[in-house]
Amino acid sequence: MSVSKPKLAVWKFASCDGCQLSLLDCEDELLTVAEAVDIAYFLEASRATVEGPYDLSLVEGSVTTPEDAERVLQVRAASRRLVTIGACATAGGIQALRNFADVREFAAVVYAQPEFIQTLDTSTPISDHVPVDFELRGCPIDKRQLLEVISAFLVDRRPAVAGHSVCVECKARGNVCVMVAHGTPCLGPVTHAGCGALCPSYDRGCYGCFGPAETTNTSSLDAWLNALGVPDEDLVRMFRTFNAYAEGFRNASARAAAAAPRGRT
Ligand code: SF4
Ligand code: SF4
Repeated sequence: MSVSKPKLAVWKFASCDGCQLSLLDCEDELLTVAEAVDIAYFLEASRATVEGPYDLSLVEGSVTTPEDAERVLQVRAASRRLVTIGACATAGGIQALRNFADVREFAAVVYAQPEFIQTLDTSTPISDHVPVDFELRGCPIDKRQLLEVISAFLVDRRPAVAGHSVCVECKARGNVCVMVAHGTPCLGPVTHAGCGALCPSYDRGCYGCFGPAETTNTSSLDAWLNALGVPDEDLVRMFRTFNAYAEGFRNASARAAAAAPRGRT
């Protein structure tokens, strides 16, 4: 008797596709994944699709249109487990910068005929719309963590993805701290682990592409960065990148914006 394999679906909302590419980038492991699951819906990889329901859905991207606000409800209803992947899906992405401004002004600057653009005033994470079983962070996500998440959900266990900061990975690699040794501003102390401390390993400060760690003390880091000569208006820009709308970074940038001189943010 043949046993049917669990059905995997990969969905795209507002995003650059980089996190879906991380799955395709698992060159050595992709065949093993394909043996373990039925890749039932993954338009980036194949036009052939299989109808739901799906055992595991990976969702990339944020909600930026009324149609997507509807579609995400259908995706949730068709999925036994739903995991969001990447900064767009977990925090609204770089496109959530509109949440701090007027999206119509942005559209007028970018598009020759902005009247054709139909978009919501905000870009919001998937968890603002439907219950989510797990959030995998990163811009883009780390493929080793993605494989761990897929393996874990296939056997109904919690993924072993640590919630600590990049600093822990940085020390585990034996790096010299760029902030202490060279005075280079680094968001490692408040950023979620997952990249293996990539930037500090090349003597650069972390710019927070994995979003906030599970517990962060951004106000303490603000004081350190101010002492290194980073003014509050630059702190606003440091926290407002790919994960600007993630709660920890959102609060930090709001605090820095309130402290910065008027008209400088
Ligand atoms: S370089 Fe950055 S990530 Fe590494 S220990 Fe220093 S502050 Fe933390
Ligand atoms: S060190 Fe920071 S900015 Fe660099 S890849 Fe890691 S999380 Fe992203």
